[in-house]
Amino acid sequence: MSKDYYHILGVEESASSDQIKKAYRELAKKYHPDANRGNAQAEDRFKEISEAYSVVSDPQKRKQYDQMRKYGGLGAGGFNFGGFDFGKYRQHTGGAGRKRTGGFSFEDLFGGGGSFDLGDIFGDLFGGSHAGRQQSQSAYQDSTALFSELTIPFELAIQGGRQIINVTREEACKTCKGTGAKPGTKPETCPSCKGQGSISVSQGFFAVNRTCPNCYGRGKLIRDVCPTCHGKSQVRTTKKLAVTIPAGIDDGAKLRLRGQGNPIGNTGKNGDIVVTIRVTPHRFFKRDKNNVYCEVPLDIIRAIKGTKIRVKTVYNKKIEIKIPPRTGNKKTFRLKGLGITNKKGTGDQFVTINVIRRTKLNDEEKKIVDEFEKNK
Ligand SMILES: [Zn+2]
Ligand SMILES: [Zn+2]
Repeated sequence: MSKDYYHILGVEESASSDQIKKAYRELAKKYHPDANRGNAQAEDRFKEISEAYSVVSDPQKRKQYDQMRKYGGLGAGGFNFGGFDFGKYRQHTGGAGRKRTGGFSFEDLFGGGGSFDLGDIFGDLFGGSHAGRQQSQSAYQDSTALFSELTIPFELAIQGGRQIINVTREEACKTCKGTGAKPGTKPETCPSCKGQGSISVSQGFFAVNRTCPNCYGRGKLIRDVCPTCHGKSQVRTTKKLAVTIPAGIDDGAKLRLRGQGNPIGNTGKNGDIVVTIRVTPHRFFKRDKNNVYCEVPLDIIRAIKGTKIRVKTVYNKKIEIKIPPRTGNKKTFRLKGLGITNKKGTGDQFVTINVIRRTKLNDEEKKIVDEFEKNK
């Protein structure tokens, strides 16, 4: 029997992929070689963690591994758990853009220049490995996406329009053109893994590709780091982006800005930005899906006698409503088709009458009110 990968990661065998990812992130930060220089134990532990994660984070490998555990390894010959085979990934996905060669460093985990966002960095990192493993398109996109929130006024949500947002994202470093090396120098091919980023180690009956300990999976060694990006190959920049708000958008809706996020590994492509829309409440209208609710005050005498009132719609139209005689407090009128329109359809507007009872009524008005209350 091989190592217990679940035990190594400190998770249950039934752990979800999120739980596994979380456990791995914590351990990887703790035992990363850059954080434990000269500590061979930490290095071994890091390799072990990476190896465990490379298997149980991949649904197919995890399934094979679980079966192998169940049957004590019988019939499991010929397995090759790919491990952190960033070398292969690099070969498949060569291209322009960010020239990071896979794997990750302490700087990737914690941010080089002091400012960091673990979510982004990991999103990018896992996106890269997902791409290599050909995950489904949506999983691939979401693991590489940046997330943002945008609060808009009620009116803009109804009418739609454009809004400018500031997005902080990574871009290929212009100083080193994304190599991470000081201009005039070049990254050297790692002699240990010959640029593959991983080395093959046989483990009982299966061979495991491990992250190269010499270059931490990069496949290259940078002797003189770029002064701008400190070897990260990327720099953090803030850009203004125009967001098109579709008419009728609701609070909590998510807009996807395709290809506007961080670079995905060295694929030359960028991930998406997912913007969650928050709508400021309106002082007069309340919204439930595409229906709109509002309350209108009405004097008690007018309510009893019957009248006509004018009410605004969310599209700024004024609509006349006929209030029949003997209309009581909280009576609601439905204005069909005057709610919010979006691609899901059109809602209605509901107008609730709040009857206002004046303190000063003349004799005739008192009589009208008494008569109404008696026969209510
Ligand atoms: Zn640079
Ligand atoms: Zn290497």
